[in-house]
Amino acid sequence: MKALTELVLASHNAGKLKELQAMLGDSIKVQAVSAFSLVEPDETGLSFIENAILKARHAARVSGLPALADDSGLAVDYLGGAPGIRSARYAEGQGDAANNAKLLEALKDVPDDERGAQFVCAVALVRHADDPLPIVCEGLWHGSILREPRGSQGFGYDPLFWVAERNCASAELPATEKNQLSHRAIAMRLLKQRLGL
Ligand code: IMP
Repeated sequence: MKALTELVLASHNAGKLKELQAMLGDSIKVQAVSAFSLVEPDETGLSFIENAILKARHAARVSGLPALADDSGLAVDYLGGAPGIRSARYAEGQGDAANNAKLLEALKDVPDDERGAQFVCAVALVRHADDPLPIVCEGLWHGSILREPRGSQGFGYDPLFWVAERNCASAELPATEKNQLSHRAIAMRLLKQRLGL
C-alpha cells in the first residue's frame, strides 16, 4: 500500500478525535471530517465493524481523501452486551450524563461480581470511498461498572468504568495513560502495525 501522508478522521465526537489524533502522532496530516461535511451517516450496521466501515466510506466520499473511522461503545455483560453499538444513543440522544444515569439505574440491583463490562472499538481505514478491502482492527478493554461516577477526564462512560489494573475509574486516568490502555489504543496500535507506522 502507498504510504499514507494525509487522512480524514470520520468522527464528530471531540473526545474521540482528540484521542485518535494523539495516537496517530505527527507522522500523518489529519483533518476532521467536519471540515468537509457536517452530515453524519446513519449507523445502520449491526456491528461495530460495519458501522466503522460505513463511517469511513462516508468520510472518504465527502473529502476525496483516505479516511479512518472508529466505532466504539460499552458492552455490559449483565445486559447481554448492551448498550453496545447504541452506546452514544442509549438514553435516546440526551447525552453522556443521561446515558450514565440510565446505566446506573439498569444495574442498581446487580452485585459487584456481576458488573463486568468492556469498552469495544473497531477502527476502519479506507483508501477511497469504494475501497473493496478496508483495513479493520479491533480492541477490547475489560473493566467493570461502578455504582457512582468518579473523575472528570475523558468522556462518555469513563466516569463509570472501573479500571482494575490502575485502581481507578477511566475518568480519573490522565489522557496519556488512557491512550495507552484503552480499547481505542489497542485497536490503533494494531492498525499502526498493519500500516508500518
Ligand atoms: P460512536 O461515536 O457511535 O462510536 O459512539 C461511541 C459512544 O460509546 C460514545 O458516545 C460513548 O458513549 C461510548 N464510548 C466509546 N468509547 C468510549 C471511551 O473511551 N470512554 C467512554 N465512553 C466511550
